Amino acid sequence: MSSTWHILGAGSLGSLWACRLARAGKAVRLILRDPQRLAAYEAAGGLTLVEQGLAQRHATPAETADTQGPIHRLLVACKAYDAEQAVVSLLPRLAKDAELILLQNGLGSQDAVAARVPHLRCLFASSTEGAFRESDWQVTFAGHGFNWLGDPANPSAPPWLEDLHDAGIPHQWTPDILTRLWRKLALNCAINPLTVLHDCRNGGLLEHHCEVATLCAELADLLRVCGQPEAAQALNEEVERVIHATAANYSSMYQDVRQGRRTEIHYLLGHACRTAARHAQPVPHLERLHRRLVEQLNARGLPSD
Ligand code: NAP
Repeated sequence: MSSTWHILGAGSLGSLWACRLARAGKAVRLILRDPQRLAAYEAAGGLTLVEQGLAQRHATPAETADTQGPIHRLLVACKAYDAEQAVVSLLPRLAKDAELILLQNGLGSQDAVAARVPHLRCLFASSTEGAFRESDWQVTFAGHGFNWLGDPANPSAPPWLEDLHDAGIPHQWTPDILTRLWRKLALNCAINPLTVLHDCRNGGLLEHHCEVATLCAELADLLRVCGQPEAAQALNEEVERVIHATAANYSSMYQDVRQGRRTEIHYLLGHACRTAARHAQPVPHLERLHRRLVEQLNARGLPSD
């Protein structure tokens, strides 16, 4: 089986993974959106990773979905709202034994992708690493963190985790990946939308303790109802800890909204509200938060799905 890492999406996280794998000598191929993006990438001469102020360029080969050749290992590194269609565009190239690693934040996109490739193994990842794009093809490694990987359908770890080890990508295999993803989703729901609505840094939520606590209580009940009791444990305490630890930061959703970029609301707060409805679990504060956020996005001409 080929050991090439095909990485779909040379954005922040995809570039961060690509550069670290490439510099560890692993075979990496980027899959870019279209021939125009491929031409722009080739003109730039590769991906540049900026780490601790030092820039290093990697002339990683790139292609588009239309390129010929089988894909055995695909790291899906686009936004949640692009993942399903992006994978569909690669269906003819996915080998019978292909494995997909889904890096998307939130929940919902992983199941949508998995439903398109029911015969293939889909692994889910939850990352707390931080990266942002200074410009096209240049990514800054901004926050050290960790990556949990797992497969809700199969607890055995894949052999290629060795590659992550060799590349210095901090990771751990976990059979409880859904618990990790739900916990991260809950933290996001309790913090990010409020930073948009109150137009503040994370620390600004210190003035909105009660609102945060009410959301945490609803989220914890929801997590218990949908079979994720571990993800519900001491949620409010962790949310308060995160707010303190990241007080000076703007949340990712805040930054997306300010910069006029589409958010992943559908896979975060939207997913929480849809799950609550499916379980007939009342979440009036989460629903109100969702409505207010959708109004705010619509008012700015941004998609709210
Ligand atoms: P990003 O910087 O916006 O990158 C997404 C990339 O996907 C873009 O380069 C985009 O191409 C590409 N793309 C979209 N559709 C494509 C297609 N059909 N074919 C090829 N490429 C396609 O996003 P990101 O920040 O890396 O986030 C990716 C996921 O990781 C999100 O779910 C995010 O929430 C999660 N995450 C990110 C971070 C972080 O620090 N950035 C941390 C944890 C989790 P164009 O450049 O052509 O638009």
